[in-house]
Amino acid sequence: MPLTTFTGAKPLIYSLTQDEMKEWLVSAGDKAFRAQQIFDWLYVKRVSSFEEMSNLSKELREKLADTFRMEPLKEITHQESQDGTIKFLFQLVDGHAIETVIMRHNYGNSICVTTQVGCRIGCTFCASTLGGLKRNLDAGEIVSQVLTAQRRLDAEGERVSHVVVMGIGEPFENFESLMAFLSVINDNRGLNIGARHITVSTSGIVPKIYEFAERGGQVNLAISLHAPNTELRSQLMPINRGFPLAKLMEACHHYINKTGRRISFEYGLFGGKNDQPEHAEELAELIGDMLCHVNLIPVNYVPERDYVRTPRNEIFQFKRILEEKGINVTIRREQGSDIAAACGQLRAQHAKETVG
Ligand code: SF4
Repeated sequence: MPLTTFTGAKPLIYSLTQDEMKEWLVSAGDKAFRAQQIFDWLYVKRVSSFEEMSNLSKELREKLADTFRMEPLKEITHQESQDGTIKFLFQLVDGHAIETVIMRHNYGNSICVTTQVGCRIGCTFCASTLGGLKRNLDAGEIVSQVLTAQRRLDAEGERVSHVVVMGIGEPFENFESLMAFLSVINDNRGLNIGARHITVSTSGIVPKIYEFAERGGQVNLAISLHAPNTELRSQLMPINRGFPLAKLMEACHHYINKTGRRISFEYGLFGGKNDQPEHAEELAELIGDMLCHVNLIPVNYVPERDYVRTPRNEIFQFKRILEEKGINVTIRREQGSDIAAACGQLRAQHAKETVG
């Protein structure tokens, strides 16, 4: 079944890359260079209506308004953590709810965006997949998340410096919208978020890793790995039955050879499941010869699932074993632990409350 975006309303103007905007302008009988002016209004001045675009003719502003929408995402609620993490629940035009997170780091502010309403990948540790996939977001709905976060940060005189595509959904299942999104936020006449400051994370859709090696430019790739062997990975992530670990590793090698870029492996530590010293040894064996980095993620407790947290000393032991094998490792700093920060929790909570 093909995955669809919502088509019941005018498209969001944020869906258009600058090249697409030029094409539209020419087809509307106007000048291509106005695309740059429109990008400036949308992403630098960050206006919220076409009328405000005062260097465009009235006729063009009316045409834009007849063709596109540009309303901001509607906030249903947000939670703010003591560490500054803000998690938003937004409502889309067709009523679906999505999550977006602002995280504060010493190197800047990063935004975690959602690419699908729900997810069908079925990772066993993830609340976002419990209701299945509803639909893909279009590029504009993904861009809107960054823009809305930027507007929030404007009040603090801050900017979005990094973007991680790690929210709800599998971005590689929504590949063309993802590509358009990356083009828009990376555009140096707009939000100007450097490609090296953007990371896309996949659960391991192998053919798309090959495609991303061709089309991803300098954007970083992260792989949700979570297991050092194929049996365990299949237990944790059913996607591994379709794209087994050996094929995933081949694709990763190809990506590194093709792009010269380092891959990040995300490894969630699930108490007693995949966090023992032998798992660390096996992981080192699997990826030890690759240009890579491992990000260990002590899992937050997810009420809908029965995974427990790895004790602190075991987390450090796991890290040490990898480091002794020469692997670059970090432990993900816990953010927003006092709010429903695990992916999908706020949305799941909202769904429960709405259903009653
Ligand atoms: S972890 Fe990501 S890919 Fe896996 S089910 Fe959750 S949203 Fe989907």
